[in-house]
Amino acid sequence: MLTSFSLTINGKQLAGAAGTFDVINPATEEVIVSAPLASVEQLDQAVAAATHAFKTWQHTSDAERQSLMHKIADLIEANADELAEIIVLEQGKPMFLAQAEVGGAVAWTRYNADLTIPVKIIEDSEHKRIEAHHKPLGVVASITPWNWPLMIAIWHIMPALRTGNTVICKPSEYTPLNTLRLVELINEVLPAGVVNVVTGQAEIGGAISSHPGISKIVFTGSTPTGQRIMSSAAANLKRLTLELGGNDAAIVLPDVDVDAIAEGIFQTAFLNMGQTCAALKRLYVHDDIYDALCNKLAEIAQAQIVGNGLEAGTTFGPIQNANQFRIVSELVDDAKANGARIICGGEPLEGNGYFYPPTIVADITDGVPLVDKEQFGPVLPVIRFTDVEDALARANSATVGLGGSVWSADIEKATQIASQLECGTAWINGHAEVLPHAPFGGCKMSGFGVEFGEEGMLEYTQMQVLNINK
Ligand code: NAD
Repeated sequence: MLTSFSLTINGKQLAGAAGTFDVINPATEEVIVSAPLASVEQLDQAVAAATHAFKTWQHTSDAERQSLMHKIADLIEANADELAEIIVLEQGKPMFLAQAEVGGAVAWTRYNADLTIPVKIIEDSEHKRIEAHHKPLGVVASITPWNWPLMIAIWHIMPALRTGNTVICKPSEYTPLNTLRLVELINEVLPAGVVNVVTGQAEIGGAISSHPGISKIVFTGSTPTGQRIMSSAAANLKRLTLELGGNDAAIVLPDVDVDAIAEGIFQTAFLNMGQTCAALKRLYVHDDIYDALCNKLAEIAQAQIVGNGLEAGTTFGPIQNANQFRIVSELVDDAKANGARIICGGEPLEGNGYFYPPTIVADITDGVPLVDKEQFGPVLPVIRFTDVEDALARANSATVGLGGSVWSADIEKATQIASQLECGTAWINGHAEVLPHAPFGGCKMSGFGVEFGEEGMLEYTQMQVLNINK
């Protein structure tokens, strides 16, 4: 299956003019395949192709664009097994999760295809009519991370296409293969140049950020990279959507049924081995139920089957790359040195692969890097509280604000507390759930702009007001 992967520029499958780079399987540390490395000249070619394609694509009718997008969804469905296998090989997640990622890609594609671009009538009087229209921006660049590589590429590409933009994708250097294959499939359906893909690391990312032919960047990744993109994007005032890092807090009130909520807390904290931007990362638990919840979470953690995502029965895969593996290991070691109690996990597994078991850390509090920093891995620090106002203040002390949650049997009280969390989405009795129709985005250093829903789609447009004097 994995014989060759190419760039797609102007509908053509190309080798990388800057050479190749190895893509590593995190479960085995073996090279899966060499991927093409794009040159900056190839980025220029992609921008030229997308600029040319925009001339026609922006005027393609809504019905035509919608029908083509549904054809893309059909093609993703038809190639679901291959895409899921590529995701497991390069990203590491278990097969059931890779299949869910492909399913999500289809759902988001169809949802965006079916959206209507609104026209607002601002005034309609005898002598005047004012209409607000949403027009495409031009060439949109999508820069994506390695955690949900296919899904996030789709989140960027589909609203851009629906609104008449053309696209250049730049996947993470850790997980480029599924995006290379996705864009190849998309090019079976769309005219040449409408969606292109280049690969590379900071150099090509920097060239995208400062490129005068690109009108918007939609970026999902870390806060420091987002800051770099924002400063280079100033050169031609690119529009930006920045979906950056998080360090989500959850507050668990003493009235919960511990047995009933523990599974939900575990799943949302350890989703994708904790490598999810809006995973639950800091668990504030009331003293009355602290020990019971810690023990229940440990029971669920110890029942996970850690292994290669391709093996039947695996429920928990490796950390995606060596660097992240080192960061997570160091944060846990530091917490131990600071007196934290490891209830389960807490040591990397021996042998090949970046395997780190689900780890529950108790008797820890704010001020320790494991709690204060974005720990993008399979570890959950559980922090004791007695006063809910104090827990809220600690939850809100983070510089980031992507998601947050409150867990309680009293929905009204939980909603009142959740509305005080400084974050883009606050869940009640849940966490980390994203839906095609619910806008999602961060505040503070988690970025700005939203994805999903009509609001997310309109981020790929600029308003033109027609002021008609009759
Ligand atoms: P990263 O910032 O290291 O890399 C993301 C992408 O940016 C990659 O494609 C990378 O090649 C590219 N890049 C690197 N340097 C660049 C530069 N100077 N200019 C332009 N592009 C550059 O992030 P990562 O490690 O791949 O992903 C993990 C991070 O992503 C975490 O912080 C996580 O919270 C965040 N994330 C956020 C969301 C969200 O919706 N808010 C979703 C998923 C992941």
